[in-house]
Amino acid sequence: MPVIGLEVHAQLRTDSKLFCGCSTDYHDAEPNTHTCEVCLGMPGALPVMNESALDFGLRVSLALGCEVVEEQLFYRKNYFYPDLPKNFQITQYEFPVGVDGSITIQAGDGERAVGVRRVHLEEDPGRIVHMRNRSLLDYNRSGVPLLEIVTEPDMESPEEGREFLQRLRTTLEYLGVFEPLDGAMRADANVSIEGGSRVEVKNISSHRGAERALRYEITRQRNMLKRGSEAVLETRHFDEETGVTRPMRTKEEEADYRYFPEPNLPLIRVDEGMAGAAAEGVPELPDQRRERFREEYGVTDEHAKRLTAEKELADFYEDVAEAVEPRAAASHVVDELLGELNYRELSLDEWFEGVGRETAVEWETEIVEMLRGGEITDVSATDVLRDVLDEGRSPAAVVDEKGLTMEGADEALKCVEEVIGEHRETVEDYLSGKEEALNFLVGQVVRRSRGKISPREASDLFDERLEEEK
Ligand code: ADP
Ligand code: MG
Ligand code: ZN
Repeated sequence: MPVIGLEVHAQLRTDSKLFCGCSTDYHDAEPNTHTCEVCLGMPGALPVMNESALDFGLRVSLALGCEVVEEQLFYRKNYFYPDLPKNFQITQYEFPVGVDGSITIQAGDGERAVGVRRVHLEEDPGRIVHMRNRSLLDYNRSGVPLLEIVTEPDMESPEEGREFLQRLRTTLEYLGVFEPLDGAMRADANVSIEGGSRVEVKNISSHRGAERALRYEITRQRNMLKRGSEAVLETRHFDEETGVTRPMRTKEEEADYRYFPEPNLPLIRVDEGMAGAAAEGVPELPDQRRERFREEYGVTDEHAKRLTAEKELADFYEDVAEAVEPRAAASHVVDELLGELNYRELSLDEWFEGVGRETAVEWETEIVEMLRGGEITDVSATDVLRDVLDEGRSPAAVVDEKGLTMEGADEALKCVEEVIGEHRETVEDYLSGKEEALNFLVGQVVRRSRGKISPREASDLFDERLEEEK
């Protein structure tokens, strides 16, 4: 079994940076416009601790079941790199925000708790933009608060690594301390096999990337063993494009960094007031919400799990379930809506942006209502949903225009019967395996209905109707 441990860096969604007043809202900004003497590392500039970064760190620690460290300290981690103008990174070390927590993940058929060794605060370095014959530096990111979450080596497969990242991300989203922007969550993956040395793969920027990097690395290490050699303790880089890890450097030792306490920041004492405020900032978490969905709405565990995997989706579902029968709403949202969105590579957020969140809730509610009330068939409901998503029209408008009411459905069925009666030979052809015969039959129905019945609907109706004869 491989042994896997992750170190995850998540940018915290504070308004200003960790040790200065510069805005963290830099994603669409011109390079080097969100900087000051502190985050540019000018000599003599003094850092001032951002209290809400600490509050966010405490919330995360509590949500992960960590023990909060009452007296915390910042250190200087010394190294030279152009993205780090001070030549040291201010980071927590021996006395982080929280220690000894866990996150439960799906592992095979069961669940497993992955230990969280520590949760600590540190500053993000700047960003280097490599071009063909030069590199550019953007310090807008320099000093943005990062929360580093270090796990125990408790995972055993690339899938588990991915699952951990997903769970962690959802938890951070629920806590309102994280905004899923590009590069806002990055991971280093540590992996070893058969008790060999661990290899650290740096700076993986997506869940899928983590899974791929781990898979590649495990195969590489296994192949080395087969050839009689062994992986060495080293740091490797993952190339997202090729899916390959490459050596970067031998693993640095702790002593290489010459850690020492940052003299310009005081010891942080977490008093009861601060801890209490942070505890109040911890809302219902994904697992609790999943449990509540099962109890309150009577939905299946699978539906509850899918619905709570993203906060946005869970909120959306609850708004719909307020207006219609919750189980019907859950089935439609999970089994139909998510599928159709996924097929269009559309996120819920993007859909909301297009039509407005309130309208989206209204439309989804309307479809479920019409289905429940027997006003439209399952087949038409799918048709309606597709038009709603593709054309941004209300379900009622689609139903009206296409005549998709039950009466419309009766008409359609009648039309299909007529075509079957008049083209018995073609039907026989189709039944004996000539797939293309169906195209002709469908064409007949579409023509006869003057386009009111769509090819897809007609084809579904033929399928249903001819199923018994097949
Ligand atoms: P460093 O900063 O040197 O990388 P850390 O203690 O911050 O050290 O991180 C160690 C990470 O490596 C943790 O996530 C831990 O779970 C993982 N790890 C430790 N031992 C092993 C091992 N034998 N195989 C895989 N991962 C390991
Ligand atoms: Mg490391
Ligand atoms: Zn600054």
